[in-house]
Amino acid sequence: MNLDNTWFTEIEKSNNFAFSLKVKRKLHEEQSPYQKIEVYETESFGNLLTLDGLTMLTDRDNFIYHEMMTHPILFTHLNPKQVVIIGGGDCGALKEVLKHKGVEKVYQIDIDERVTRVAEQFFPDLCTTNNDPRANLLFEDGIKWMQNVPENSIDVIIVDSTDPIGPGEVLFSEQFYAQCRRALKPDGLYVQQSESPLFQLNLLQSMHKTLQAGGFAMTQTYQFFQCTYPSGWWTGTLAGEGDLTEFRYEDAENKDFTTHYYNPEIHSASLILPNFLLEALA
Ligand code: SAM
Repeated sequence: MNLDNTWFTEIEKSNNFAFSLKVKRKLHEEQSPYQKIEVYETESFGNLLTLDGLTMLTDRDNFIYHEMMTHPILFTHLNPKQVVIIGGGDCGALKEVLKHKGVEKVYQIDIDERVTRVAEQFFPDLCTTNNDPRANLLFEDGIKWMQNVPENSIDVIIVDSTDPIGPGEVLFSEQFYAQCRRALKPDGLYVQQSESPLFQLNLLQSMHKTLQAGGFAMTQTYQFFQCTYPSGWWTGTLAGEGDLTEFRYEDAENKDFTTHYYNPEIHSASLILPNFLLEALA
C-alpha cells in the first residue's frame, strides 16, 4: 500500500504499525496464480521484493535473514547432507546452504515459480548458485511435496515461507510438521521463520506447541535483527531431538566461506532470549 508514489509502505494491521521505504520507481508488477509480485527500486535499500504487499527482501539487508535462516541449523546438525528448503523462492537461502561443502543435495520447493524467475531478473546476486549440480528447484505446494518424501530421508528442513496467511498458512500446521518429522532422519533438524517476538508472540507460542504436537521433542527459538520486517526483530525456531543450543562451534569458527552477519558468537548470542519470551515459551 503506498501513501504516495515516492514511498512504499507496509501496514502491519494487527499492531497498527507501518513502515516505509523511499522508492525511485516500480520495476515490476504481476499477479501470479498465488500472489501479487512487485519489485521496487528504492533510494537506499537497493531493490525491494514484495508479495501481496508485504516486504520479502531488499538488496541491503537480506543477508541477515538468509544467513540466520541457514547457518545456525546447518552448524547445529552434526553432518548435514540432504537439505530441503520449503519456500525460499528468491533463492537467497539456497545460496547460503550451498556454501556448506558437505551438503550433497538441496531440494528447494516453492509453490510459485514466478517468484524465482522474478528473483533471477531483479536479484541476480541471490541466484548465482541456482545451477549448482547439488541444487534441485521444484515448484509445487510444500505440504503436498512433503507427503511423498520417503521417511527418514532428510537431514535438514528449512522453511523460508511467507507469513501464515494465503499459501503459506498450511506450513504452520500440525499436519505439515508431522510430515516433516516423518521425512527427517532420527537426528534430523527443522527450522522455520517464526515472525516477530514483539508483534506475533501468540503465533510463536502456538508454533512451539504445534511443532511438539507434530512429533518434535525439542523446540528452540533464536532471534536476530531484520530491519525491513515488521518491528525489525525477527526469529527462527528450531525443532528436533536433543539440545538445540549445542552446535559445531569450531566448525563455524573455521568455516571456509564468507558471511556478513553470522559467526559462532552471534549464533550463541541469538539463543539468549529476553525474559518475556522465556516466560511465554516456558
Ligand atoms: N523471507 C520471507 C518472509 O520471511 O516472509 C519469505 C521469502 S520467500 C519469497 C517466501 C516464499 O514462500 C514465496 O516465494 C512463496 O511462493 C513461498 N510459499 C508460500 N506458501 C508456500 C507453500 N505452501 N509451499 C511452498 N512455497 C510456499
